Amino acid sequence: MIIGITGKYGSGKDTVIEYLTNKGFQAHFLSDEIKKEARRRNVKANRDNLIEVGIKLKEKYGAGILAERIQSRLTADKKHIISSLRNMQEVKVLSRHPQFVLIAVIADKQKRYEMLKNKAREDSSKKFKQFLDTKKIEESYDPDEKELKKVHQTAKIVIKNESTKEELYKKVDQVLADLNKQFYHRPSWDEYFLKLAMLASERSTCPRMHCGCVLVKDKNVLATGYNGSIPGAGHCDEIGCLVVDNHCQRTVHAEMNALIRAAKRGSSVNGATAYITNMSCTNCSKALITAGIKRVVIFSDFHDTLAVKFFTQAGVKIDKLSVPRRIIDYDLESYSSARK
Ligand SMILES: [Zn+2]
Ligand SMILES: [Zn+2]
Repeated sequence: MIIGITGKYGSGKDTVIEYLTNKGFQAHFLSDEIKKEARRRNVKANRDNLIEVGIKLKEKYGAGILAERIQSRLTADKKHIISSLRNMQEVKVLSRHPQFVLIAVIADKQKRYEMLKNKAREDSSKKFKQFLDTKKIEESYDPDEKELKKVHQTAKIVIKNESTKEELYKKVDQVLADLNKQFYHRPSWDEYFLKLAMLASERSTCPRMHCGCVLVKDKNVLATGYNGSIPGAGHCDEIGCLVVDNHCQRTVHAEMNALIRAAKRGSSVNGATAYITNMSCTNCSKALITAGIKRVVIFSDFHDTLAVKFFTQAGVKIDKLSVPRRIIDYDLESYSSARK
């Protein structure tokens, strides 16, 4: 999950960021990128220099440059919060991530005045001066109020800070709960095994159909299979299919392969469930029934076969699932655990 935060000074966005950081979010500040650039250029990081560096960066590389620079740190296995977005180009850059969401933290003028006054009281005068400096630096790299307004209007989620800190935290918790539901769907057992069947289908070698099958008993995988050639016969996707009567004769179907692999290892599939990407062909349904499969779970219907009729006659339960997220796409580059 990648949360972009936008909000005016004193709106409470820093409170939200602090709260989310305590909840395990990694915070990234676009203004830090200006400081890093200043270090790179051996420029002293005082206010005027930072303002100048920020303006030059944007002139040379475009308004989205600060967002571009934090991209490589936005790993998929962590939750991130980015503050603070001030132009549409930054929104565009971060919107490339499927799990990006923009949140605007808003407060009316009175509330913002109170927040800034409290901030002044909490901080020593020196610190408050630094705070005001930071404010100016951030504003300087995009002084256009209209642009900031556009960013606010783009935000899918608006958190209104109108009462106490605790009330603000409650609102953030609610937003997080909703986002977790949206982004992190925990698959049911059926979805889990069907997805494994999809993964198995990726190993298919017959281009006529990619199909996967997983045999499961007591939540344990007994065997997996996919549409592939008999050993030693070469792969259809390399040497072409061996078609007779409109069927590829070289291919052993996913269900058959799974049953055979279970047999080779001496695992009984009696009473097991077959998770299959597609409804079986007639022959595979016969084999599954005879092997004692009691339930079949599929994603999609198959063409016209006798499988449904045979399964029904044999008392095999058929469940067709519509899986909410059909795409299994792991971008391993974005997982820190997959990096060296
Ligand atoms: Zn083939
Ligand atoms: Zn088959």
